[in-house]
Amino acid sequence: MKAQDFLDDAAIGSIDIVENTHKALRKAQQIDNDYNYFYNFNEDAIRQAEEIQRRINEGQRLRFAGLPVSVKDCICVKGLESAAGSRILQGYRPLFDATAIKRLKQEGAIIMGKTTQDEFGFGSFSTNTHKFPKNPHDMSRCTGGSSGGSAGMTAKADFAHISIAESTGGSIACPASFCGVIGLTPTYGRVSRYGLIDYANSLDKIGVMGKNIFECKLALEIMSGKDDKDGTSLDAFSHQKRKIRKVGVIKETLSEGIDEGVRINVMRTIQNLEDFGIVAEEISLPLSSGYALAAYYIIAMSEASTNLAKYCGLRYGAAEKLDGNFNEYFSNVRSKYFGDEAKRRIILGTFARQSGFREAFYLKAMKLRTLIIEEYKKAFNEYDLLVSPTMPVIAPKFSAIQNLTPMQNYLMDIMTVGPNLAGLPHLTLNSGMSNSMPVGIQFIADHMKEDMLVSMGEMFEP
Ligand code: GLN
Repeated sequence: MKAQDFLDDAAIGSIDIVENTHKALRKAQQIDNDYNYFYNFNEDAIRQAEEIQRRINEGQRLRFAGLPVSVKDCICVKGLESAAGSRILQGYRPLFDATAIKRLKQEGAIIMGKTTQDEFGFGSFSTNTHKFPKNPHDMSRCTGGSSGGSAGMTAKADFAHISIAESTGGSIACPASFCGVIGLTPTYGRVSRYGLIDYANSLDKIGVMGKNIFECKLALEIMSGKDDKDGTSLDAFSHQKRKIRKVGVIKETLSEGIDEGVRINVMRTIQNLEDFGIVAEEISLPLSSGYALAAYYIIAMSEASTNLAKYCGLRYGAAEKLDGNFNEYFSNVRSKYFGDEAKRRIILGTFARQSGFREAFYLKAMKLRTLIIEEYKKAFNEYDLLVSPTMPVIAPKFSAIQNLTPMQNYLMDIMTVGPNLAGLPHLTLNSGMSNSMPVGIQFIADHMKEDMLVSMGEMFEP
């Protein structure tokens, strides 16, 4: 059932919310047994459903009445273990809801559980954690990452459902592309980051995954808006239908280094845009295509390395028996509980910020970031949207991922890091199939222009 139909029925009281929640949880658990999409399920979900049913019976109009919502593990949900896919945070049960979650709950959303992800969001395949989600189209392949569980669950759920996810450098877009669902990443600041377990504060954004653009739009309308608890938060989103006249096709993303099946598929979708009266022209974006990846990884790792410093076994996260001096104790706890990728990023990020290297790495990356933003801004003088494939490949097999070097891993994000670095909203839609696997197409809009993206998403639906 489509979320839109579900919400229409729920609003007039023709759905038993408690029964529906029971059913949705049972199905999600069955799916999880085979596909590994959840770390945990919300034991309080049925009580929440009873409460929502009571509010509906009282005549309250709830925009998300009884809708089952899964949530990426890095977003805090009150009382529900929220560990960002990391062993160091295992057992952490927040005493509060992230602002985005609080707003969804106020509108009647029912939180089903926390979805699998790369540890702290570090990765593109959801394999940097202790439970690997499997691709809904082929279990020998990954879901993409880092919001892998959210994307897989969205594809697999045959009941009305959405998933709330997070992107730092493409973690909504990538798994949406690999699993064939919609991934909407808003402008940086559009949704409050309060209650999001930080990866890199200047990049992190909470967004949404769904099967139809309607529920993605609605979720963003509900979650977005100013929040006293996040000084970077911006005005709420309220959708207005927009006419899209001209899109810029990012030339560099369709040339070398991209899988032929992906290229042909995305080119065909772009040609089809002409049927809607949209002009598609090639545009060259040399800075974002050539330098965004390097700048992104330096900035993201620098920020991540400072964020992870607090997990030292004293105040936050896992602790051990105090043994040896403090330095030995910190090393012991951090060595034991952080995964390999987190350790790699702590070392590289600390190096890039270190005195003597800061100018050569961190500050240079920051300068590039400004130039990349300017390059995009100039493009938006001419184009309503920019378009590219989301990922250069279809979802890789687990056996192939094992053999990738860290650098080959990072290169996967070549098309998604640009808009993330610039804080631009972007949308991944399904462009079709190649080799029986989904291919994603990415649309990028100017800051605060999510309505252009939603209008494009609407065109893709019958
Ligand atoms: N794959 C990218 C990284 O590892 C993006 C992850 C994300 O957006 N959280 O940094």
